[in-house]
Amino acid sequence: MKPPVETLYVHVPFCTHLCPYCDFPKERLAGNRMRDFLRGLQAEWAWVQQEFTVSPQQVFFGGGTPTALSPSLLQELIEIAPWGQAKEWTVEANPDGFGPTKAAMLQAAGVTRLSLGVQAFRPEDLAWLGRRHDRATIRSAVASARQAGIPQINLDLIYGLPNQGPTEWQSTLEEACALKPDHISAYVITPEAGTELASMIERGEWHPDGENESLLFLLTQRILEAHGFNAYEISNFAKPGMECLHHQAIWSGQDYLGMGPGAVSTVAGRRWRNIRDTGQYARSAETSPHPDHEEEEVCGAQERRTERILLGLRTSLGLAEETLQGHEICLAELVQKGWGRRQDGRFLLTPRGRLRADEVATMLI
Ligand code: SF4
Repeated sequence: MKPPVETLYVHVPFCTHLCPYCDFPKERLAGNRMRDFLRGLQAEWAWVQQEFTVSPQQVFFGGGTPTALSPSLLQELIEIAPWGQAKEWTVEANPDGFGPTKAAMLQAAGVTRLSLGVQAFRPEDLAWLGRRHDRATIRSAVASARQAGIPQINLDLIYGLPNQGPTEWQSTLEEACALKPDHISAYVITPEAGTELASMIERGEWHPDGENESLLFLLTQRILEAHGFNAYEISNFAKPGMECLHHQAIWSGQDYLGMGPGAVSTVAGRRWRNIRDTGQYARSAETSPHPDHEEEEVCGAQERRTERILLGLRTSLGLAEETLQGHEICLAELVQKGWGRRQDGRFLLTPRGRLRADEVATMLI
């Protein structure tokens, strides 16, 4: 029997410009590479259908910037597979370059959720992040999505930036809420190895301020909850019923299939990562049974359990206590410290515990 898959991720590795903190597989837009990518994805989709029983329930187009493709190439991408059968179909977009034409195309294809990479509103924050948009572009992108009738909108934000204390971050959150999104993802800036940001830190030009980050994290919970968002994961906040099904499927340990250069899949106890280079991805997808994998491993029960703990602890659902058998003393200690609480057979982190989620996970693995 072919393994069933309901959660799909498609990695579109193109951006109009490259941000200094980003470590996702991506490259600048170039016409021939985009054609390669689409041909490769077509071939990979054919392989996927042979190997798996795919009934898309939650589909996520990430990147890169899927909407950086021209309208005609975006249309080709949309038509490669019946993505629109899914209950939820998210497409990531940047505010610059996203207007009524692309919004209408996505809506007509059945996209249910637009995830906008807003990141910040203050010009100095946007400049530091290497972003090209401004407030007006953000507002106009949100308006285009609304006018086209895309049902849900997420705004991505980043905190922990230079000269960003509680007052500045609060004003960013208030500006985001004023746009009435259904969902907000707020991530702390993270210096990933090999990025320009990591080099800046090595050169001593900037360094993250952990204390400020903790303050802003707790502020985020307070402000967004006051605006009616549910903090259903450490970095993710949703209006009631607007939680991202794709994220929830991954956090709960469901199998998922990643397509496109650099995409990761975990299906039936196997995990693999597609080759990152777009040209090699396309060539191998077209000439071999499937795109080349640069990593491949067996993903055993112990590894899946570890991931369930790491990911589950970050969510408002927490973990079923039976997952944590043998850790009674540790759980009691975490409750006593005010980092966790027990409720209806589950163990959940408090806001203070969420600040130390990785440390707690290490204690429970
Ligand atoms: S737009 Fe997004 S994917 Fe592209 S470089 Fe910037 S952060 Fe990375």
